[in-house]
Amino acid sequence: MIFEQLFDEKSSTYTYIISSGKGREGLIIDPVIENTDIYLKFMNSMDLKLVKVIDTHIHADHITGLNELHKRTNCLKIMGENSKSEVIDLRVKENDKINIENLELKTIYTPGHTDCSYSFLLNDKIFTGDTLLINGTGRTDFQNGDARAQYDSLFNKILKLPEDTKVYPAHDYNGQKYSTIAKEINNNPRLQVNSLEEYVDIMSNLNLANPKMMDVAVPANLKGLTLNQIENKF
Ligand code: FE
Repeated sequence: MIFEQLFDEKSSTYTYIISSGKGREGLIIDPVIENTDIYLKFMNSMDLKLVKVIDTHIHADHITGLNELHKRTNCLKIMGENSKSEVIDLRVKENDKINIENLELKTIYTPGHTDCSYSFLLNDKIFTGDTLLINGTGRTDFQNGDARAQYDSLFNKILKLPEDTKVYPAHDYNGQKYSTIAKEINNNPRLQVNSLEEYVDIMSNLNLANPKMMDVAVPANLKGLTLNQIENKF
């Protein structure tokens, strides 16, 4: 299997390139538009055909690479059914399967960070977007975020997976690449709560500034802008 984790320095975003092997179909999760050439160069070096791209949710801190990748490769753009993006080709719902050659991702609806957030399970790996981060959880104070929904997504869905499942988030700000369900249950400070109310209380008192890119990124991601369109607009 080919599994490549790439890091965008500017937004601290992790992007994942997945394929069952050289010369086969490939899929990308959470691409960043400025890195499109890097992704395509990697795909070429492995002789991969990009067939599907997924965003775990509408990002507020970077512009998605979904549309530029679609423009260049005609890959299918996938998000959860609640996404407000105007340009999604396939909207998945809970328990759907996303297939590429010899691989299958299972969709898990994990709202909370946003109301469109999905996680994706690939064998022993889960891509958690901004629902579960390493030693953290995604903020719930904009884009229809909801700490109660996030508690349910975490405690009743993601954390019920086998403890050795590897956790691959959409961001990390401390250089950590992945975690496991067991490590997060034991060490993640946000998960050391005894009740839903306690979790909601923590999330209501984070007092975070809005992401710098938010006013640019969210509209661009809803409209589905490509590199040319961004250059003309901003
Ligand atoms: Fe996010």
